[in-house]
Amino acid sequence: MRYFEPAVLRDPDSGQWSGEYRAEHKWCLPSVLCPRCETWSVMQAYPSVDLSGLPDNDSLTDGWPQSAEEYARRLALVRPFAPPEFLLEPGCRLGPLAGTARGHFGPVTVWPPWQVLVREDARDLLLGEGLQGIIPVHAQLRTRRTKELPLYELEVHPLAKLHPDCIYDREPTCPFCGRHGFMLPPKRWLLRESVPAGLDLFGVEETNRIVVSERFVDTVNRLGPSDVFYREITVG
Ligand SMILES: [Zn+2]
Repeated sequence: MRYFEPAVLRDPDSGQWSGEYRAEHKWCLPSVLCPRCETWSVMQAYPSVDLSGLPDNDSLTDGWPQSAEEYARRLALVRPFAPPEFLLEPGCRLGPLAGTARGHFGPVTVWPPWQVLVREDARDLLLGEGLQGIIPVHAQLRTRRTKELPLYELEVHPLAKLHPDCIYDREPTCPFCGRHGFMLPPKRWLLRESVPAGLDLFGVEETNRIVVSERFVDTVNRLGPSDVFYREITVG
């Protein structure tokens, strides 16, 4: 199986679709103030996590940096609402996208690069063809005429790892917050044993990259062109 990273077109003017949206996930964990790293957060989103039943969810709409203690308090509020395998980190977005949209959308929309939305027909085709790892969550995007668009965000779980040989600048582990990040290497490939067998969409740990299978690309392309560039990522 070949794999690809979906990306925004290099030349946005070469696109065929006019669709645009402005939206945020309904809730989030705050970023963390670390005495050594200053503030940091991840781009991970879990749109399927529904906090509407959490009475004390007001503080979870504000991503402003917080102390480790306050971060831990809010994490403890969220934890029972997310399955245990979900990796919750500072800055993590939760709940469906909500916002406004205009124009016409192609089968797949990638914007920003760590967010993939599909049209209803693309969702139905991906599920109908039995692709694995497809978790569509209805995005609450309204047009000016207050019509809600049938667009779905695909939830991405970071399951694969980059091959250690392509990471050249990993920071030592921070004694305060445990961070040990690295810059996304322009030349990168996946660690073979970390690639989840049979899945057609997954994320890459410690990055905001999304990977889709060749089967995913072939399936959505049956609905015509999307303004998406698929960059192959090898496995080694
Ligand atoms: Zn730190």
